[in-house]
Parts: sequence; C-alpha cells; structure tokens
Amino acid sequence: MTDSVVQDGAGVPDELDRLWAPHRMAYIKGENKPQDPSSGECPLCRIPAFDDAEGLIVHRGDATFVVLNQYPYSPGHLMVCPYRHVADYTELDDPETAEIAEFTKAAMRTVREVSGAHGFNLGMNQGAVAGAGIAAHLHQHVVPRWGGDQNFMPIIGRTRTLAQLLTDTRDLLAEAWS
Ligand SMILES: [Zn+2]
Repeated sequence: MTDSVVQDGAGVPDELDRLWAPHRMAYIKGENKPQDPSSGECPLCRIPAFDDAEGLIVHRGDATFVVLNQYPYSPGHLMVCPYRHVADYTELDDPETAEIAEFTKAAMRTVREVSGAHGFNLGMNQGAVAGAGIAAHLHQHVVPRWGGDQNFMPIIGRTRTLAQLLTDTRDLLAEAWS
C-alpha cells in the first residue's frame, strides 16, 4: 500500500473543512469543474468510461449511474446521473426519470443499511444560479445526515487518506447495493 493514491471522480470542491488529514491527502487531479457546458469538459460524461473503483461508481443502470461525490457534503454523498449530457430535468426521457427515482430509493436503502444514516437531503440544483456545480449535466444528490458524530468514519478508521476513504466507501456501498 502506497501513501499516494490518485483518485479521479466527480464533484465540485468547496470551502468546507473535512475530518481527514489534508497533509496526507493524495492530491486530486484538478478541480474537475467544467470550463464550459459542453460534454467534452464534463466530468459526469467522463466517469462512466472508468472502471467502477477508479470512477467511484457504486452502481450502473440502463439509463443512469450512481457515483460517490468526490467532494462530499457528508460521507457517502452519492449522485444519481443520466448517462446523457442533459442539463434540465424536463429534458429527461421516461426511462431516465424512472431510473433516477428508483436509484434514489436504492441509494437511501443502501446508505442507511451500511451507515445507519438518520436522515437524508435529496435534490437537484437546476442551473448555476441555484447552486449546481456541474450545471450542464443534471444529477440528483443523495446526502446522508446524522444527528451526532456517527457516520462512516468509525467503520473505516480515522487515519485513512481521502482517496482511500472514498475507495473504501465505494466498496462498501457497491457490495451492499440493493
Ligand atoms: Zn455531461
């Protein structure tokens, strides 16, 4: 096991402090924030080409996939995304709409089973003005919440690097997906 783990993934960095030790964090490639709205710049279009572990993909469906956010609001923060590069919820076709709903439920069940989450924030930010980091490719956030300090950390350990934490979290969720 090396100290340096390169992890690609999807998400938008923010200014929030994290629980893990930043001096040990293998640095994440770039910021992954698209420079323009085309699919060529889009991390959510890029992710499905990676294998599951590399891309932090927890589950793949016919029309959509489920990926760990690389910059989680909380441990286990998942995103359900269509494979198609579409920005607006009204642009989704029926199979995409149905699978996003189905996988949002499955993500909640899975995260609850693995981590004992007490609650969730679910939702889509539509447009940069509404807070979407990757506005050009819609994604449903599934953010687990805990009343106290319980989360994945006691399971996984406090001294892991961010990249290892994300990889281990992905493994747990992919195995438990139901
Ligand atoms: Zn895209």
